[in-house]
Amino acid sequence: MSLDNAHTARLDRFTLPDAGGHFGGYGGVYVPETLMTALQDLGAAYDLARKDPVFLTELRHHLKEFAGRPTELCFAARLTEHCGGAKIYLKREDLLHTGAHKINNALAQALLARRMGKKRIIAETGAGQHGVATAAACAKFGLDCVVYMGAHDMERQSLNVFRMRLMGAEVRGVTAGQQTLKEAINEAMRDWVTNVRSTHYILGTAYGSHPYPMMVRDFHRVIGQEAKEQILAREGRLPDELIACVGGGSNAIGLFFEFLEDTNVRMIGVEAGGHGIKRGEHAARFAGGRLGVLQGCKTFLLQDAEGQIESTHSVSAGLDYAAVGPEHAFYRDRGRIEFAYATDDEVMAAFQLCSRLEGIIPALESTHAIVEGMKRAKALAKDKVIIINLSGRGDKDVQQVAKILNVKL
Ligand SMILES: *Cc1c(COP(=O)(O)O)cnc(C)c1O
Repeated sequence: MSLDNAHTARLDRFTLPDAGGHFGGYGGVYVPETLMTALQDLGAAYDLARKDPVFLTELRHHLKEFAGRPTELCFAARLTEHCGGAKIYLKREDLLHTGAHKINNALAQALLARRMGKKRIIAETGAGQHGVATAAACAKFGLDCVVYMGAHDMERQSLNVFRMRLMGAEVRGVTAGQQTLKEAINEAMRDWVTNVRSTHYILGTAYGSHPYPMMVRDFHRVIGQEAKEQILAREGRLPDELIACVGGGSNAIGLFFEFLEDTNVRMIGVEAGGHGIKRGEHAARFAGGRLGVLQGCKTFLLQDAEGQIESTHSVSAGLDYAAVGPEHAFYRDRGRIEFAYATDDEVMAAFQLCSRLEGIIPALESTHAIVEGMKRAKALAKDKVIIINLSGRGDKDVQQVAKILNVKL
C-alpha cells in the first residue's frame, strides 16, 4: 500500500486538500483555539508517518495479521442473475475483524498515537462499530481507551457497549441533546481540549477538521487499491461503476480514491433516505441540505432556516448523521461522484434478498449501496461490471431487523 501523495502533485486527487485542509470550498479547520496546536501536531506527525517505511510496514503487518487484509472481491452470481444485467461484485470489508471497514482507520490511528507517545485514546461512536474497532486496536497495543456514546445509542446498541467493555474500554454515556452521535462528538472534543497532552482522538470517519478527512481517507485507500488489482485480475479491465454507502464518507472515499482519474468508471455514493426526503425523516445531506459548518468542518448539512441542525433518521445508525465528508461535496460539484439515496423500506427488502441469494447478511449501512447497485445493474447490459462496497456485516443488525419484521427471537 502507498499513502504518499507527493510524487504526482499535478493531479487534483493528490493535491487535495490544501495545507489548510480545504477541498475547494469545503473542509477547513473550525475549532476552538485550544485545539489548533493539537491538530497541527497531528498533521505534522501524520505527514512524517505516511512517508516512513517503518510505519507503513508495521501498518501493513497489522492490517494483514490482525484485521484480515486483503479482503476478497466476491462475484455475486445469484444477485447478478436476479437483476438480469451487469455483473455484480462485492468488496468484502464485512470479512474484516470487528465486522466493518472501520478497523482500517482505528488500527492506523492507534499506531500513529503510539508513535506520538500518546497512551490514552478517546473516540466517539454512534452505532458502536467505530467504538468496537477502536477498543480492539487499543487492547492490541495496550492503550487506555475511553469511548463517548450517546445514552440513547447505548440503549439501542447494548451489545456493542458490552463488546467494548470486554476489550477493556471505558464507555461514557452522553445525556445532552438527542443523546446520539452528534452529542458524543461534542463530548469527545471537550475531553480532547482538556487532556490534549496525553490523549489522541481517533475520529471514525472522513470528517471533522483537517487533517482528519485526509488522514482517514488515506487509511481506507487500501480498499480501492485492492479492488482495482482484483477486478483487473478477474475481468481484465476496470469496472463500469463503483457504489458505496455514505455516512461521513470513509468507506466510499476509500474505494473511490484509486479510481478518480479513471473517468470511464462512474462512482455513486448512497445516502440514507429514511422515510423519504421530508424534514427530520432522512439523512440525505445532498438531497435536502446546504452549506454550513458543523463539528469543525464546512460542508453540506441538514439545517433549518436559522442554521440549527435538523434531526435525522435512518434505519441504519451508521448513516444517521446531519453532515457529510467535505471531499464528497467537492467531487459532487465537479460531477465526478454522483449521489443517490435508499429508503428504509428499500433497505429492508434488499437486506433479506442479499441474505437469501448470496448467503451474506450485509450491514444495514452497506445495504443502501446494494439497493442502488441492484438498480444500476438492472439498467446495464450483461457485459458491464459493477463493484458494490460491502462495508460491514449485518450481525449487529439482526435483532433490530427481527423487531421491524415482527419476529420474536
Ligand atoms: C460506520 C459505518 C458506515 C458509515 O461510515 P462511512 O464513514 O460513511 O463509511 C458504513 N458502513 C458500516 C458497516 C459502518 O459501520
